[in-house]
Amino acid sequence: MSNLDPVNEQSAQNPHHCPATRKDGQPCRAPAGADGWCVGHRPGAADARSRGGRGKSRAARAGKLLPSRLRPVAEMLELALVEVKDGRLKPSQAQAMASLAGALVRVVTSGEMEERLRDLESKE
Ligand SMILES: [Zn+2]
Repeated sequence: MSNLDPVNEQSAQNPHHCPATRKDGQPCRAPAGADGWCVGHRPGAADARSRGGRGKSRAARAGKLLPSRLRPVAEMLELALVEVKDGRLKPSQAQAMASLAGALVRVVTSGEMEERLRDLESKE
């Protein structure tokens, strides 16, 4: 008998798991559909995959689109999400963070939009 854990061996080769790599470098592991991909990595949703094999998740793309001032906020909210789930942060605190972040997003994005519009208009 091999000394490989048969369960691990099986899950590593399980064709029913999505073969894509997530943005954090971990294998996706999401259950795959009939085409062999999970919902998030399905071809069409995964045009980035052809550009180098490491599909960029929607979250990573959204992160790039975010104004740089909002990126740390998004990261903080992501962390808060985990902390609430693990019971390390009170849901009420997370709620307050979410409302503040929402307000900040509105202020920053309207400012950025103005700036972009002005840029566009000045190029014409
Ligand atoms: Zn996947």
